[in-house]
Amino acid sequence: MVKIKINISSNHKIIFAGAGPGAPDLITLRCKRAIEEADLIIYAGSLVNPEILSYAGKGCKIVDSAIISLGEIIEIMRKSYESGEKVLRLHTGDPAIYGAIAEQMTELDKLKIPYEVIPGVSSIFASAAALKTELTAPGVSQTVILTRQTGRTPVPHGQEIANLAKHGATMAVFLSSGDVKSLTGELIRGGYPVSTPVAVVYRASWKEEKITKGTLENIEGRLKKSGFAGRQAMIIVGDVLDKAKCGKSLLYDAGFTHGYRRARKNRIGVSEIRSNGDYKGDMAVYAITAEGIGTAIKLMSRMEHGTLFAPERFKRNSIKNSKMKFFNEGGFDETLSENWNKYNGHIFIMATGIVVRKISKLIGSKTSDPAVVVCDQKGNYAISLLSGHIGGANRLAKFAAEVLGGQAVVTTATDVQDLMAFDEMAAIEGWKVVNPKMIKVLNSMLLKGKRIGLMIPNDIFNKYYSSKKNLSCIKNSDKVRPGSLNGMVIFGKQFKSCRTPVLLLK
Ligand code: SAH
Repeated sequence: MVKIKINISSNHKIIFAGAGPGAPDLITLRCKRAIEEADLIIYAGSLVNPEILSYAGKGCKIVDSAIISLGEIIEIMRKSYESGEKVLRLHTGDPAIYGAIAEQMTELDKLKIPYEVIPGVSSIFASAAALKTELTAPGVSQTVILTRQTGRTPVPHGQEIANLAKHGATMAVFLSSGDVKSLTGELIRGGYPVSTPVAVVYRASWKEEKITKGTLENIEGRLKKSGFAGRQAMIIVGDVLDKAKCGKSLLYDAGFTHGYRRARKNRIGVSEIRSNGDYKGDMAVYAITAEGIGTAIKLMSRMEHGTLFAPERFKRNSIKNSKMKFFNEGGFDETLSENWNKYNGHIFIMATGIVVRKISKLIGSKTSDPAVVVCDQKGNYAISLLSGHIGGANRLAKFAAEVLGGQAVVTTATDVQDLMAFDEMAAIEGWKVVNPKMIKVLNSMLLKGKRIGLMIPNDIFNKYYSSKKNLSCIKNSDKVRPGSLNGMVIFGKQFKSCRTPVLLLK
C-alpha cells in the first residue's frame, strides 16, 4: 500500500474542517486524520453525517453546535485548547461556503488562539456529481454563481436573485429550498426563460439522495409531489443541465486552434440549435457585410425560426444555408418593407443610423410594430431599438447578446429600474392590452412607486411582483376602497368604469 504523508501542522491549533456533503467516504484524508486525533469535536449536527464521527478515538468528547450559541462554542473551544486538547470544528461540505467560520475566527483572533482550515467537498460538487453535470459547459455557461435567497440572513443590495439572474449563468442556490415558489419567480423576473432546466438534489451523496428535475415553470409542483426539498437540498439552475444544449468542449472542437492544430475555416458557432430564449416568433436577420454575415450566421445557429437576408454579392461564397435569402444590390428597402409585417422580429447587423433611416417610414404604433434589434458586426452589443415590451425587442436583444457573447442594451425605464413593466408582463404571458393608452400611465405609476392593485392570477402576481410593497394582488375590483389605490391592472374581466386609472388586459 502506498503511504501518503499527511500534513497536519505539529503546532497546537484549533482545526476547522470540511466534513463533506454527507457520504462518510467523501471526506479528505486530512480531515479523517484530524477526526481520529481530536480530543474534542464540535460539529453541526443538523447537516454533518454522524457516521463520520465513528472515526473519532474512544475518549473524544463530541458536542453538537446546533444547540449552543457562538459565545458558548468559543468558550468550549478555548477551555479545551488551553488545556492542551486537540480541538476540531467540523462543518458540512466546505467550511468556506455558508460555514459561518468567519465569526468564529474573529473571536479566536481576539483570544490569540491559532487555527487552520482543512477544505472539504462542498455539496455543490456532490450535487453536480449526482446529476452527472458539468456546471461550466462551453457556449452555455462559463460562470457558476453560488448564492442563496434572502432570508433571516439578508443578502447585500445588488446580490438579490433577480439581479444575479441577469447573467443567465449556471446558478447553485443554497439554503433556499424552503420557498421555491418565490425563488423561481425571482429567477424568471431576472431573465431566465421559464423553460430553463432546474434540478433539486436532496441530500447529495447520502443514502437518502433524491433528485427532482423540471423547469422554472414546473419545479415547484414537482417538488410538492416528490416531497424532497427540505433543508438539505441544493437547487441548480441553468441550461448546463440540458445535455442537448451542451456542445463539445472547445478544446476538442475542430474549429478551435489549440497547440499545433489549425482551426478549420468558416466555423459557425459553438453550440447547437436551441430555442430563441424568451422570445417567441419568426425573425428576419439582415447583414450587409462579410463580417456581419458571420455574426448573423452565429445568431441563426441558435434560432428556431429565422431567415437571413443578405445582398446578392454574397451568394457565391456564402455557406450553404437553406434559411438564407438574397436581395439585389439596392433592393434592401424593398425587402424590408415586404418583411416588416411578416416577421415578429427584425435583427439588423449593421450601424444603428442605417436602421433608423430604413425603418422610419415603416413604423406604425406601439401595439403593432414588430421588435427591432440592432447588433454591431462583432456582436459586442445588441440594442433593443423598437417595441421593447409588447413586441419583445428587449427579450430579443437579451437573446442575441447571450448568443453572441455581447451586452444587451435596454433603455426602457422600467427595465433600467429592474421592474417588470405591465405591458411586458402581458406580452410574456401572451395577453393583449385592451386600452394601450393606459400603458404609459400605469407604468409611470409603477416607476414612481404608487399603490397599484393587480387583478391577475395569484401565481402570475407572485412571479413578477411579490417583493414590491406598493403592489397588491386584488380579488375583486368592485370591493376596492375608493382612494386606496392610485391605479389598477385588470386581466380578463368585464369592467365597470371607475375613477381609478385602469390598464385592461385580456
Ligand atoms: N458549507 C456547505 C454549505 C452549508 S449551507 C457546503 O459547502 O456544502 C447549507 C446548505 O447547503 C443547505 O441548505 C443545502 O442547500 C446545501 N447542502 C448541504 N449539504 C447538502 C447535501 N448533502 N445535498 C444537497 N445540498 C446540501
